[in-house]
Amino acid sequence: MTRVVLWGRVGNSVSDAQVIIAIDGPAGAGKSTIAKALAHAMKLQYLDTGAMFRAVTSTVLRLGIDPSHIEQVGALCESLSLEVLENQVIADGVDVTVDIRTPAVTKAASVIATNPLVRANLRSRQRAWTSMRGGGVVEGRDIGSVVFPDATLKVYLTATPRVRASRRVAEIGGDVDEIERLIRERDFLDSTRADSPLREAEGSVLIDTSGRLVVDIVEQIVSLVEGRLP
Ligand code: C5P
Repeated sequence: MTRVVLWGRVGNSVSDAQVIIAIDGPAGAGKSTIAKALAHAMKLQYLDTGAMFRAVTSTVLRLGIDPSHIEQVGALCESLSLEVLENQVIADGVDVTVDIRTPAVTKAASVIATNPLVRANLRSRQRAWTSMRGGGVVEGRDIGSVVFPDATLKVYLTATPRVRASRRVAEIGGDVDEIERLIRERDFLDSTRADSPLREAEGSVLIDTSGRLVVDIVEQIVSLVEGRLP
């Protein structure tokens, strides 16, 4: 693949010119796979912001808090110690790596994600994360539109609901019609919420991942990033 450059970090200090690549899109569009491969190709670190919302949700459910209670959930999020690593997620000392992928957490996460207190708190953690690392590849729903509107490159990945559902079935099994229904339900919640709805950010590059190879998409994004660097 393309040349590999260690962007963003200069010695032990963080460079002012952070390289931030924002990857947004609906569930099953290929964000995680592409963002991880891209981070690897560009020697940048990778942040899955969905895992942050999921970790808050997992803790809310474990403690028996009502996910729709704005203030209680907001206060919990504020005080939560959260470590989102590439292959492990720890919330208040509890390893929630497996729990955050359960159907119960997936469903409630879209409700928690409508909470403006949670969004504000996680947004500042996401910004602090890139500041400490001199940039990174950050994936989610509102990264290019709200969290990093001035990102080096903003990509919006998409694919039809059927393609997205078929990918989920290949990963975790299940009935494709039912999974497509759940995906459409999440799309609706994510794109109609008042705070930071899922949408294509202004200036983002739209990439339809249906029927394309990950390696080709990554190569396309790397050359787009290179075209934007001084
Ligand atoms: O990406 P993932 O499916 O893991 O995200 C779980 C949920 O978290 C999404 O359905 C969405 O409601 C929420 N989310 C969000 N903003 C982000 C990332 C995820 O609202 N930046």
